Amino acid sequence: MSKFKELGLQESLLSAVADLGFETPSEVQEKAIPILLESETDLVALAQTGTGKTAAFGFPLIQKIDSASRTTQGLILSPTRELCLQITNEMQLYSKYEKGINIVAIYGGASITDQARQIKRGAQIVVATPGRMKDMIRRGIVDISKIDYCILDEADEMLNMGFFEDIQDILSNTPKEKSTWLFSATMPKEVSTIAKKFMHHPQEITVGDKNAGATTVQHEYYVVGGRDRYPALKRLADANPGIFSVIFCRTKRDTQRVAEKLIEDGYNAGALHGDLSQNQRDLVMNSFRKKQVQLLVATDVAARGIDVDDITHVINYQLPDEIETYTHRSGRTGRAGKSGISMVIITRSELRKISAIERKIKQDFIEKKIPSGIEICEIQLYHLANNIKDTKINKDIDGYLPAINDVLEGIDREELIKKIVSVEFSRFYNYYSKTHDLNSTDHSNKRERGRRSDGESAPKDGSVRYFINVGERDGYDWMSLKDFLRDKLGLDKEDVYKVDTKDSFSFFNTDAQFTPLILETFSDFKVDGRFINVEVSKNPGSRGGGGGRKKDRFRGKKKDGGYKKGNKGGSYKSKSKRKSGFY
Ligand code: AMP
Repeated sequence: MSKFKELGLQESLLSAVADLGFETPSEVQEKAIPILLESETDLVALAQTGTGKTAAFGFPLIQKIDSASRTTQGLILSPTRELCLQITNEMQLYSKYEKGINIVAIYGGASITDQARQIKRGAQIVVATPGRMKDMIRRGIVDISKIDYCILDEADEMLNMGFFEDIQDILSNTPKEKSTWLFSATMPKEVSTIAKKFMHHPQEITVGDKNAGATTVQHEYYVVGGRDRYPALKRLADANPGIFSVIFCRTKRDTQRVAEKLIEDGYNAGALHGDLSQNQRDLVMNSFRKKQVQLLVATDVAARGIDVDDITHVINYQLPDEIETYTHRSGRTGRAGKSGISMVIITRSELRKISAIERKIKQDFIEKKIPSGIEICEIQLYHLANNIKDTKINKDIDGYLPAINDVLEGIDREELIKKIVSVEFSRFYNYYSKTHDLNSTDHSNKRERGRRSDGESAPKDGSVRYFINVGERDGYDWMSLKDFLRDKLGLDKEDVYKVDTKDSFSFFNTDAQFTPLILETFSDFKVDGRFINVEVSKNPGSRGGGGGRKKDRFRGKKKDGGYKKGNKGGSYKSKSKRKSGFY
């Protein structure tokens, strides 16, 4: 029997689950669904975004409502228009085989008449943002006086955004006899107040740690001089060729400024903040979703609705004032069972904030170094070589081959490879070979000494850096690759360090004494029929900066390495990945 069936879901939902490719229920689904199906109860569920909570309340809601009746029976309140649409879309997919169900989204910035028309047709489930909902109640367009279920999604975000009174108003239009299900990533005082005020003996479930960030996220910080924030940001992007990232700034002005600079420097970047019109925000979000924009620079408020699963890195260009906000920021990555990295660019004087965040999220930060120019060149070079290897040959080129052969006649293979790679690589090399170290070197203010750095112990004398031709696409992260290497080489925990995984390749360090052993072990080494190749990297002093994934880079066209539209590649597996080992 499928795991979803064991939770008590009816056939129509099980068919939808099968279509969606969900194989195992996520933790929040496993905990919430049976409770909600079996009893009429209030529920408080603490769960991060991206943990599958829409289905955790969506499945029971769909199963419980009477689709033969046109009355509005379920109301879902969500903080932003983005999320509201996302929930509606997901719910529509879930209810695909449930005849007669009408799920309508109500949100600001779109025609109220259209939404009113949809409501009039009879919507058993309404998904709404608080502002527009209140407006529609006031105008008598929507009637929620007979609902049986009210869901407050991302309650902490709604309260953060100042919707307390709106929520209170809306709830006062609902019957006392109903079930309220509250979902929240964190449990600040305001959320507890809502729970106390509007709920009766709610059952509580917690997914992961209360108030803790998602554990699939690795937290890193980079100490730089105040004026080096922007160049540091560029290096972090360049050191992670597949980056698909949200970059958080504190103010709208900084957000706009950083986005403009990135665009000027040839990156595929966009800005998202409150001074933009709804239309401009929609445009940038659409481009981001399609990965045409790879670096989305955003304010906290504007980013609240971002619900995109594949974000590889969250970059804190500046730290937020509130620690709670950091949890929300970093929760934008590491979603749907994928791993993610939250990077903080910080000056020495702000270092104490890191300890405060660590206490809150109950996870350690890793201190990392901004990669040197040469390291970035090396990463980009390997990335380019891999891209060439992976590129599907375009058959239409065949007709031109004789002419191309004529042009390239007399150039041998090695020279040809060098030339092809140079076409793209020189631009990068020319820029980075002249740049300086961006890491702040004054240690007077440093946090406790001997902390983990690059995930491991401090660099040692005679350290050798290696390149290995496996990476995240082969299922490794820095921890599992380190385990693999230690295991194969029979080395101790401390002997392999600075493990830095990219999409299709990785780097690691050992002391020089192990080099013969490593080269010997991997001289003829296969896993699943594939040769695992290890080489000494040309950059032995590497600091192991990046630590991310990548997609096509190098195709940018401007000054010092920018993104070009329509890049693709990398290892973003959505449904197929979900199928195997979600959570
Ligand atoms: P949510 O937290 O509801 O925003 O869900 C995050 C993503 O995970 C969405 O794209 C869902 O379609 C997906 N998802 C939800 N439940 C599962 C599951 N059991 N297996 C695989 N993917 C899921």
